[in-house]
Amino acid sequence: MIPAAFDYAAPSSVDEAVAALAGAGGREVKVLAGGQSLIPVLRLRLAAPELLVDLGQIAELRGVREDGDAIVIGAMTTHDALTRDPLVRQHALLLALAAETVADPQVRHRGTFGGSLAHADPAGDMPAAALALDATMEIAGPGGRRSVPAAQFFTDVFTTAVAAGELLVSIRVPKHTGWGAHYEKLNRTAQAWSIVAVAAAVRVSGGTIAEAKVGLTNMGLVPLRASAVESALAGQPATAEAITAAAAHAGEGTHPMADSNADEEFRGHLATVLTGRAVLAAATA
Ligand SMILES: Cc1cc2nc3c(=O)[nH]c(=O)nc-3n(C[C@H](O)[C@H](O)[C@H](O)COP(=O)(O)OP(=O)(O)OC[C@H]3O[C@@H](n4cnc5c(N)ncnc54)[C@H](O)[C@@H]3O)c2cc1C
Repeated sequence: MIPAAFDYAAPSSVDEAVAALAGAGGREVKVLAGGQSLIPVLRLRLAAPELLVDLGQIAELRGVREDGDAIVIGAMTTHDALTRDPLVRQHALLLALAAETVADPQVRHRGTFGGSLAHADPAGDMPAAALALDATMEIAGPGGRRSVPAAQFFTDVFTTAVAAGELLVSIRVPKHTGWGAHYEKLNRTAQAWSIVAVAAAVRVSGGTIAEAKVGLTNMGLVPLRASAVESALAGQPATAEAITAAAAHAGEGTHPMADSNADEEFRGHLATVLTGRAVLAAATA
């Protein structure tokens, strides 16, 4: 279907983009990133914004840089770029591994990290990985810039802390250099959307799990941290037995949805099994 008519702006800086959003007046306005989620929505006429603000010309929003004990990833950095970027692979490997599982090469070349986070689809792969690594989102708006930790960023299904008139500029990720990482995902073979997936980053020292961070995809309306698993893993030997025992806590505090792919009980079972696999793979990577 052809989308409803809209005005189009292609600013070349973040300030210009914020001004374009502010200049929309009473019109409904949407930010356009890679278009991999928004364009289908427009074509189905599930949304009909009167103004699209395309972020594609803003150089500041692309690329990855080092900043002390963190790396900073521009919101318009594509999934494909994430999979290849040397800084990401060295300091935040979990993001590269999760991005490798997104859809197919065409979608990964157009779709962006920031777009995935801002879209906040419960089955999207990047939110749980960003949550597991304690990322912080930088948001620009008419009042200037502000930072929101991932734990407060995802507020509901398809809803984030990005308010009307604002845009996500970058994602700051603490360095997890030397950590093992793994993204374990169950999906239908015809498509790559997660039924359930688990993002794990593990620091092993002398055969013992010193620290573990675990994010869950599609086990609630927002991505969740498997805190009970993280606590149970700390100080345990990096063995299959100890990890399987800790993974039994994966369902605690989750509220998975039921749909045609899986009911709540099966999703809880999947979370346990996939957590065991993801943590073991990360611990022995
Ligand atoms: C066939 C297909 C299969 C897919 N499979 C998967 C999959 O397996 N796993 C997965 O995780 N994803 C999947 N996706 C989604 C894909 O990852 C998208 O890239 C992603 O969801 C949105 O990113 P985008 O850059 O395309 O954003 P867009 O589609 O341009 O925007 C999405 C939403 O986010 C908002 N937005 C975007 N960027 C910003 C910003 N910087 N600041 C504020 N708001 C912003 C937009 O206004 C819009 O509401 C799939 C998509 C398709 C078409």
